[in-house]
Amino acid sequence: MTTSHVVFLPFMAYGHMIPMADMAVLFASRGLKTTILTTSSTAHRLAKSIHKTAGFAHQIALHTIEFTTEEPGLDNPDQFISIDHFSRFLEALSTLQEPFERFIETTKPNCIVADMFFPWTTETASKFGIPRIAFNGTGFFPLCVSEAVTRLQPNVSSDSEPFVVPHLPHEIKLTRKQLPKLEGEEFKVFLKVIIQAVEAEARSYGVIFNSFYELEPEYVRHYREVMKRKAWHIGPVSLYSKTIEEKVERGKKSSIDEHECLKWLESKPAGSVVYVSFGSVVKVTSGQLYEIALGLEASLSSFIWVIRDGQEASIPEGFEARMEAEGRGLIIKGWAPQVLILDHESVGGFVTHCGWNSVLEGVSGGVAMVAWPVMAEQFYNAKLVTDVLRIGVSIDDVGWSADSTCEGVKQAVIERAVARVMSVEEGGDMRMRARVLQEKAKTAVKEGGSSYSDLTIFIENIKTFKK
Ligand code: UDP
Repeated sequence: MTTSHVVFLPFMAYGHMIPMADMAVLFASRGLKTTILTTSSTAHRLAKSIHKTAGFAHQIALHTIEFTTEEPGLDNPDQFISIDHFSRFLEALSTLQEPFERFIETTKPNCIVADMFFPWTTETASKFGIPRIAFNGTGFFPLCVSEAVTRLQPNVSSDSEPFVVPHLPHEIKLTRKQLPKLEGEEFKVFLKVIIQAVEAEARSYGVIFNSFYELEPEYVRHYREVMKRKAWHIGPVSLYSKTIEEKVERGKKSSIDEHECLKWLESKPAGSVVYVSFGSVVKVTSGQLYEIALGLEASLSSFIWVIRDGQEASIPEGFEARMEAEGRGLIIKGWAPQVLILDHESVGGFVTHCGWNSVLEGVSGGVAMVAWPVMAEQFYNAKLVTDVLRIGVSIDDVGWSADSTCEGVKQAVIERAVARVMSVEEGGDMRMRARVLQEKAKTAVKEGGSSYSDLTIFIENIKTFKK
């Protein structure tokens, strides 16, 4: 039998591109031919992944297509400027359909794995008689919650009164404040794209997840049996990065030398450091940075804190020097080697915005979390962390932000949450549960594990696919 060829079309945001690149490496490690198609302005982000497959029977092939938008600066979603800007970016993605189809026509692959933001790939796949697999960049739990709250009109009298999300395996409580608010003219295009994505996903051959069965078993079953979707879980894909070199550069070049970072971590006792990061998209306001600095200082924990390049001026004067002199804090300005840090035994806590990758990387590192969601499905992910897995505490009273802005939380709240997660008793219990999950995650990706086996099933499904 000839080798199956899988074409990946990742969305250009880091949170989607990093796991899809990891998936391509994983597929290549199982002997499949893989090609990643992306735009020329984002192709460099994949160089390291391609390098990882150098010794395999089939190295990942990279094919670039031109993304021509009339508007300058609209070629990738790294800078979330406004919902309007993001919507225009999403709409412009349909211009990739024609060059994408030309590529499919020439190369005749066996399967397309395409991000949710390319709903038209379902049409492409059916045109060429091959399966389209959707990738949402998130887990089973958030998708089940999302489906359950769509069209739900909770019977509550205020935005902060909790209601129970119906028809789910656990009693999950949310407030209206935590749900996306997509009313108004400015959300029209965005909503249209989301609806197209959901419809295209339902018409796809199936959905592939960066998750593992033991993390959310009831929701894997709910998604398959109640929502009746074909799905495969093959993660956590970050666990396939094993060496320091592989862990260090995922998506972007790290702003700190990895040896310097490791040396700092090695000087700290096991489980004593809290890592603070809000991922690649969330904007943290100056006022919020100030409060985080004070909260971290008051928590008395050692920390690694990632801020954006150029945000130093928002931090209290003398803070960085003081923390450095005490050997208590390391501030990374720009891009952190996140997986390398979370995997280090000195790290015991993680203040996170609950992006799906960060949650999985936190679980894989066996750390307890302060769940501080900001937008997208992060509020649902936070519930998984705190209420279902019980490996974290949440920052309460924050609401869904339409422009992905993190703001308004006072230092005392941050201090208390960090202190709880880093404490020996309460935090220790959470860490113990997180470490059990960490072991399960490692087992899942090993030969015979749940993720390994689901990938075997996936490969079989692709090979035997009939129109
Ligand atoms: N990431 C990283 N260094 C950083 C910030 C982010 O390596 O300084 C990686 C992180 O490990 C994760 C991804 O970028 O794999 C972010 O995805 P996530 O779903 O957590 O959040 P998003 O950025 O999409 O909001």
